[in-house]
Parts: sequence; C-alpha cells; structure tokens
Amino acid sequence: MKTGDRSHCEVAVVGAGPFGLAVAAHLRRAGVETRVFGDPMSFWRKRMPRGMRLRSPLGASSIADPEDALTLGAYARRRGLAFTYPLPLEDFLRYAQWRLEESGVEVEARELRGIEKKGRNFRLRFAEGAPVSAYRVVIATGLANQEHRPASFLGLPRELVSHSCEHEDLAPFAGKRVAVVGAGQGGCESAALLSEIGADVDLFSREAIRWLGSEASEEKGSAPVKDLLRGLTRTKNGVGPFPLNHIADHPDVVRRMPDGFRREFIARCLRPAVAGWVKPRLSDVTRHLVQGELRPEVSQSAIRLRVEEATKTYDHVLLSTGYRIDIARLGFIAPELLRRIRCCDGSPVLAAGFESTVRGLHFVGSSAVYSFGPLMRFVAGTRYAARHLTQIVVARRAAPPLRTVSGTDFAGRSAPISPYSEFRKSRQCVGGSRESG
Ligand SMILES: Cc1cc2nc3c(=O)[nH]c(=O)nc-3n(C[C@H](O)[C@H](O)[C@H](O)COP(=O)(O)OP(=O)(O)OC[C@H]3O[C@@H](n4cnc5c(N)ncnc54)[C@H](O)[C@@H]3O)c2cc1C
Repeated sequence: MKTGDRSHCEVAVVGAGPFGLAVAAHLRRAGVETRVFGDPMSFWRKRMPRGMRLRSPLGASSIADPEDALTLGAYARRRGLAFTYPLPLEDFLRYAQWRLEESGVEVEARELRGIEKKGRNFRLRFAEGAPVSAYRVVIATGLANQEHRPASFLGLPRELVSHSCEHEDLAPFAGKRVAVVGAGQGGCESAALLSEIGADVDLFSREAIRWLGSEASEEKGSAPVKDLLRGLTRTKNGVGPFPLNHIADHPDVVRRMPDGFRREFIARCLRPAVAGWVKPRLSDVTRHLVQGELRPEVSQSAIRLRVEEATKTYDHVLLSTGYRIDIARLGFIAPELLRRIRCCDGSPVLAAGFESTVRGLHFVGSSAVYSFGPLMRFVAGTRYAARHLTQIVVARRAAPPLRTVSGTDFAGRSAPISPYSEFRKSRQCVGGSRESG
C-alpha cells in the first residue's frame, strides 16, 4: 500500500472491498489511470463476526479480475487447498488478500471525508493527506453507514443495544443473555455463533424463517427428487428464487425493467432467507415470532423485551435488522453535489456504466441494486459491474459526449441508455436530472 502524492487522476475509486478492487483491476488493465482509496476488505474483517461462513456458493464468491485468473478456485489450486461449501470467512479473507497482491492494484488506505464537484473534475478530501482531484469517481463504499436500526431502539446505550455490523468478535457475549432481532442469514448465523460460545440466545423475527437448501428439510427419504429439482433450477450465482434467479444474473435486463416491476423483482429476490446448514446449529436458540414493533424497556444494566404475554430480561440486544441504502447517510457527499444526484428511496438512479445523474460520478455495489438488481448486493456482481463500467469509461474516453438529443441520452454511443423518463414518474424520486456533456 502507498500514499500517493499526485494531485490529479483520471479515475478515483473510493472503497477497497470486492467491488472497488474488481473495478480498479479492470480499469487498470484497460490502461485507465486509476487510484483506489479505502481500507482493503475492511467490512469483511471488521463488520462480520469471526467464525461466520459465506452463504454464497463457492462458484459465486470470486472477486472478478479481467483475465478470470484470480478466482477462488485458482487460489485453492495454487495453495493446494480443497474448499467445501460453506466457505469460512477467514478463508475468504485470505483469498482476497492473495487476489489483491496478485492483481497489482495499489490501495491507498485513506478515508474519504468530502467530495464536491469543481468544474469538470471532482475534488476529494481525506481524513489525512493531500486532497485529490479526479475526472471520474467510482463510489464503492458498500454498506458503510447504511445499517438499519428500528426506531424503538434508537438512542439506547451501546452496551445494551448494538447492530450486528458493530462486531467482528462475539466472544464478549459468552455466558450472557442475548436477544437477536432479525432472522435473515446474518441474524440466524449470529444466533448460532452466540449459542455455540455459551450465550443464552432468543431470536426474534416477524416472519417464520425461510430456509434454503436440502439440509433444512425435515422430511427423510424424499430428498433425491427435491435435490434433483433444486439442481435443475438453481443458478451459479444463487441470487433469488426460481425462476427469478435466471433473470437476476442479467443486470442489463433488470435495469430495463419498468420501475415498479423492477422494485418488486428486487424485493422478491432479496427476501430474507437462511442457508439450511445453519438450522441444526439453532437447536439451543429459542425463537419468537413478533407482531408489530418490539418495545424495549431499559433498566440499569439490562434491557427488557415483551415475549408473548411476559417480559424477558436480556444483557444485550443484537440488531440484525439489515441495511437500507441512503447515499445521504454516507456523510461525504457535499450537499450541493448530493442535490444533483437523482435518487429513489435513497438509492442513486444509475444509467449505463453505473453513472449517476452527475456526469462522471458512478456507484457500484449495494448502491447500484436499485438500478441494476440484486446481483449487485453480492460478490458475484463484481464481474458484471467491473466489466460494464470499464467498457463505458473506455468508450467515453474514445468518443467525447455530444449534446443530449430528445428521447436518448448521448448521441453516437453504443451503450444502452437508461429510461430516465420512467424514473421521473416515480414520486419517491428526488434530485437532479441527467447532465448532458
Ligand atoms: C453478515 C453479512 C454476510 C454476507 N455474506 C455474503 C456472502 O456470503 N456472499 C456475498 O457475495 N456477499 C455477502 N454479503 C454482502 C457483502 O457485504 C457484499 O457482497 C460485499 O461486501 C460488497 O462489496 P463492496 O465492495 O460493495 O463493499 P464492502 O465490502 O463493504 O467494501 C467497502 C469498502 O469501502 C471502504 N470505505 C467505506 N467508507 C469509506 C470512506 N469514507 N473512504 C474510503 N473508503 C471507504 C471500506 O474500507 C471498504 O474497503 C454479506 C453481507 C453481510 C452484512
């Protein structure tokens, strides 16, 4: 890693998780001068619990590189390892470190504090070091500052209530009474890990847990037919239920869906569901279905939740209540710039090349789910995102944009154009309109 002293670059990639690293490797390979800022894989190292396993299939857990040479499989072969599903987080992190070193991408471990537009360039200000100006910026900051906390838990002391993303190690909860709120993959796996280290765990959810895979099946003997059907209907990336999973693998198709239809499609694909291999690990966890909001009561060093007709006391409530994208909460986009980014429900509306309504400002990863679909939430999405973004950036370098013409975006481009008029119809959409050259 190094701290550069150049004051201008063509593309600044902010974020060094799977998306930022993949995009940077592709741009670099295409000869685009690129600088990357961020703490490599910090979300996976610091905001996921040790001992966790990846829910994504092995074949969908490679961080994309231009030659398809730095895959998880290539790493395993090089090291003489034989990975089996589900992959431990620690193995994935070792793979990511190897991939970063092999890719030749240099990362500057600097935290972005502010971004604003100055003429045709962006000016980036960091927690330390000199500011940088860039012609394009790719925001790849993942789920940082996007965690969702139910209103009734806001403002409570951190010793009593925390979000699951605040813990890389659940060991301090050994022997404690812990309520886990939320029964998606993260909540169930946290509950399992807590139970395995000796915590007394209750798991609260609004709906019954949706299990994935044959391991969760209670039926004995009927598995072969179900397994065969599962094998026939599943996709490599494993995102979404059949048959939506086949469409989810094509972000370019998802982007062209009518707005309301696409939202519904994304919601269906990202419905909370839990890998079957977690189920046996919850045998000592008490599960509660709740209706409406949980109303916590705090008393001295404990917190109480209403359970059925009684009230139960816990040492800690762990919120595994997911994430909601709202780029205003990133905290580093200058207000004037933010106003120019057209957003729907907090997500930027993106056109070809993951470009926002501010020319040269791109978003990849979770912020792109609204426009490009559920694949962008997962490592498997890095392949499409990095290739597509690089293709557009390179094409625009070669052919400077012309003025907007009616009904299309920029004339003379081969890239598909997003139907912005569609987005504008939506009442939840706010912010700027498309910049035209
Ligand atoms: C509990 C849990 C389990 C998951 N399991 C899986 C799984 O099994 N498979 C899967 O595919 N996906 C999984 N995901 C989703 C996973 O988070 C994404 O696939 C992946 O992290 C997306 O990569 P990213 O590069 O967009 O973001 P991240 O990995 O979050 O990386 C963000 C990067 O941005 C940097 N950054 C943030 N703010 C700033 C700033 N201000 N300045 C500079 N840098 C900044 C960070 O340092 C980091 O380098 C899981 C998520 C959770 C919460």
